[in-house]
Amino acid sequence: MSRVLVTGATGFVAGHVIEELIRGGHQVRGTVRSLRDPARVAHLHRIADALGGSIELVEANLSDDAGWGDAVAGQEYVLHTASPFPATPPRDEAELIGPAVDGTLRVLNASVRAGVRRVVMTSSASAVSAGRPRDEERRRTEEDWGEPDRSAPYAKSKIFAERAAWDFAAEHPGLELVVINPGLVLGPVQHAAAGTSVSLVRRLLNRELPAVPKLGFSPVDVRDVAHAHRLAMEVPDAAGNRYICAGDNMWFGDIARILGDEFGPQGYRVPTRRMPFWMLWVAGRFDREVRLGLDFVGSAELLSSDKAHGELGWSMRPVRDTLADTGRSLIELGLVRPR
Ligand code: NDP
Repeated sequence: MSRVLVTGATGFVAGHVIEELIRGGHQVRGTVRSLRDPARVAHLHRIADALGGSIELVEANLSDDAGWGDAVAGQEYVLHTASPFPATPPRDEAELIGPAVDGTLRVLNASVRAGVRRVVMTSSASAVSAGRPRDEERRRTEEDWGEPDRSAPYAKSKIFAERAAWDFAAEHPGLELVVINPGLVLGPVQHAAAGTSVSLVRRLLNRELPAVPKLGFSPVDVRDVAHAHRLAMEVPDAAGNRYICAGDNMWFGDIARILGDEFGPQGYRVPTRRMPFWMLWVAGRFDREVRLGLDFVGSAELLSSDKAHGELGWSMRPVRDTLADTGRSLIELGLVRPR
């Protein structure tokens, strides 16, 4: 049993990481920005109780030094999942990049001072491939890096934060760093404040889109991402490595069709019609995020998770199960309804 700190405990990924750790018998502490609203963390206590464990929660904000020293005190491992991931990008990209980069350095500095053995950081597949042309036949690997100048603010924040972490680790050889780079994370949501990535499924089931653009994603199940974090913490030779955890390319339309097969009989009319390029182009005139995505319409996201399979012994469940479980959890929580 180890003492493990998980940053950003309210998050979609963190909730599953915490569940995985408690199930594995670890003693978990989590950071949250504020403890004032018990409803935001009730699911964590419920999960811990159900597993016969417990969770301690402390306050710390990525934008503030306060709290980090106390948060990491006495911990052997830190799993750093916290990072701003808003559904709509802020006007000023510094609102994402600042907390992502400075917050990561706060967590790493506090970890070094407290003698933490290993930090596992949740980066993103964006830090591997964002802003790079997708017209190559080659699958991207951990050798690759995203191109910040051609990336949306969120992807930029992930590239800069991961780079800052590796630079920090190079200057502090006593601290072990492992990075997980997940693709699009889907899977069951544990509470009503569902994560940004799951909103893709929510919007399809709620028929909030008229049609689906031909965009390629590499989905991965949140439970498998959580397992990857535990392996990254436990496998001795993982230190100093980044690991892509992402499935094969899936077109948005294929995701919609699977959801339609699964939930159509329950009255969910999932849109499966292809959104024409001109419609996206027009939307891109008004929305920079859409504009940046135009370059990637029609091209697949090709990523290799071979390293995680080979070195961590990691595996993924079938994406159809992930999509079905995502939809079921959204229905159970009343976050979608038939239209
Ligand atoms: P969520 O938005 O659900 O979780 C993000 C967490 O970060 C929340 O707990 C949030 O706290 C916390 N956070 C944000 N800003 C701050 C801040 N200034 N100070 C302290 N905490 C902060 O997203 P996910 O769970 O999906 O993402 C978790 C991690 O996984 C992120 O690093 C994300 O970049 C990465 N990732 C996610 C993918 C996905 O598809 N979901 C894909 C690849 C990577 P609060 O609740 O207070 O806002």
